Parts: sequence; C-alpha cells; structure tokens
Amino acid sequence: MSFRAVHANWGTVFVHMPDLGCGQAWEAVWRVKPPPPISCAQYRHPMYAKTSRAGMRFFAHAPHAPDCEIAREGESEAHHLLTLELAWAARDAGAHAELEVRAPDGSWRADVLASAPDGSWRIALEAQLSPITDTDITARTERMRQHGVAACWFSDRPGPPWLGAAPSVRVAREQDGGPLAVAEGLVRFDGRSWRMVRAAALPDLLRWVFYGQAVPHSVKSSYAYEDGLRSLPVAWTHPRYIAAEETRLRSAAARTSCPGAGSFPRLRTVPRRHTLSGPAANRLPLPRLRRGDRGPRPQHGGLPAGAGPRLWPTGSSNGTRPGVRPCRTVPVPAR
Ligand SMILES: [Zn+2]
Repeated sequence: MSFRAVHANWGTVFVHMPDLGCGQAWEAVWRVKPPPPISCAQYRHPMYAKTSRAGMRFFAHAPHAPDCEIAREGESEAHHLLTLELAWAARDAGAHAELEVRAPDGSWRADVLASAPDGSWRIALEAQLSPITDTDITARTERMRQHGVAACWFSDRPGPPWLGAAPSVRVAREQDGGPLAVAEGLVRFDGRSWRMVRAAALPDLLRWVFYGQAVPHSVKSSYAYEDGLRSLPVAWTHPRYIAAEETRLRSAAARTSCPGAGSFPRLRTVPRRHTLSGPAANRLPLPRLRRGDRGPRPQHGGLPAGAGPRLWPTGSSNGTRPGVRPCRTVPVPAR
C-alpha cells in the first residue's frame, strides 16, 4: 500500500488528494483498461490503484512485482491508517506534513515528514507495526539524523519490544473509534522516580516534541513501579524533568561521597536496556487503554486528569532543533 505513485504522463500522483495532486480524478486510474502506466516511486515497479473493503484508496504493487522498500514496509492497511493519523496530528500541532518522503540519496524513507512552517526543523514520524530489531531502529534513526532529520517511532500494538530503543511512543485509543493518545513513552520525574504520562492527545505530544517541550532522554533513575509498565531506556520528557533528575543524582552523589576524597563517586544508574524478553515478558501485564480505566477525560489540552501546567511545564523550549532545509510539502487531506 502506498499513498503515492508515479504516472508516466502526469508525474507523481497522490491517492489521498481529491485531484490526485495533478488535476486528475481517481476514476482516471482506478479500474481503467488498459491499466494506467503507474509505478512505485522508488524503483518504478508496476502498481495498481485499488480500494480496500473499507473503501480506502491506495496504490499496491502488481502481483509478482519485485520486492522493494515500499512493498516490504508499507503494504498493510493498519500501517496506512496510522500514517494518516500521524499526518493529521502533525498538522493539528501546527506543522507541515508530507507523506512517504525519501532521502535524496535513498538511504531512508519517512512515513510522515513533519516540518516547521519556516523550514527550521524536520522530524520523521514513523509508523512501525512490523517487527524490527533495536539495532535496525537505531540505525535507521541515525541515517535520518545524518540528514538533519529527527525521528520518532510510533506503534499502536500492545507491547512493541523495540519501544525505548530509540525515541518512540506507543499510542492507543481510550475509546473504540476515538482519537489516539499516548500510552507509553512520555514520562515525568516526580523528584525520586520516573512516571508515565498517559492519555496525552497525539497532537499535544507532537506540539511538545516539535517545540522542544518534550525531548528524548536516556533515563538514569529508576521508574516508579506502577501498573507493570516497562522501564524504557529512552523516553520523551520535558527538559525541566531532565534537570530535576540531574539535580537529584548530584545531591545523592554528594551525600554518599567520602569527605576529603576529592572526587565524585560514580553515579548509580540503571542499565540501558530494561526490556524484558522471554517468559518474563509474558508474565508482565501490558496495559491497554480501556473505556473508563483512566478516570475523567483528559483536560488541559489533552494532559491526563489532574495534570495541569504544573505537571507538564509550558512555556518556552530549551532550544531549537538542528537547522535543516525547508522541504516541499504536500497538504494532508481533511478528515
Ligand atoms: Zn516497488
């Protein structure tokens, strides 16, 4: 499944735009004989315009077309839907959002490339539903970083094993058919331990991410043992919470240092990897958002109940993202 393909005469065609982005109707490519000259953007493999049983439009590789990155990674309807939802949320958060953007040298492809209206930053929002190793997700994040593109990985599956290996968030719906909210990956420091911040609306999370009010952090202190949630090595948090953890670790180190020793002892930190695997992981109850189990509906623009500005600090960010070039953006369709 792909949102875009290349028509031999019209150039790039976008399945999610009313005029395919080139002044043509969907009926001009769908169920047309002979088949229109449509191919995949990466390797020009033959593609067809199709609709799913639910009525979703997409381009798919023709049967027996050679394998390529688009065919391997993005052919499922669930991936397609999560990608669209990420693009909508990015737009709601004030960013430009372009779908299925390839690196100039072909070394990566972003499901959604969100960028500042003034082009000052770009961040890839990746819908990752198929299995991936920590090594692969880290390498793909690094390839994008080398092009000045940050990355955040998203999954709506119950317990992706790679969560926290790179900047990532697990999302879930509080109610069937409701909007996606953060379920795992956003944390706050309570002065002693890290705690999960849940049920933040996706556009709120993205707004914090885009403007530096949520940054990826390699967690050093322990997590509060709550709800059996996993201790993610890397989580998104506000810079103020990172500073609070640093202060706490420094004061703890000062308390335990030997007077007159002249040097700080090593800080006691948690190991980088905390993901359980094997039988232990099966015993770990992984939370799912269900109707009514989170108390009142989120308030304060999507923050969890009781989580006002004091819980998630608002105000200016602690800095700007690496300068990156503006990119051509394609509008995301209205819902
Ligand atoms: Zn292809």
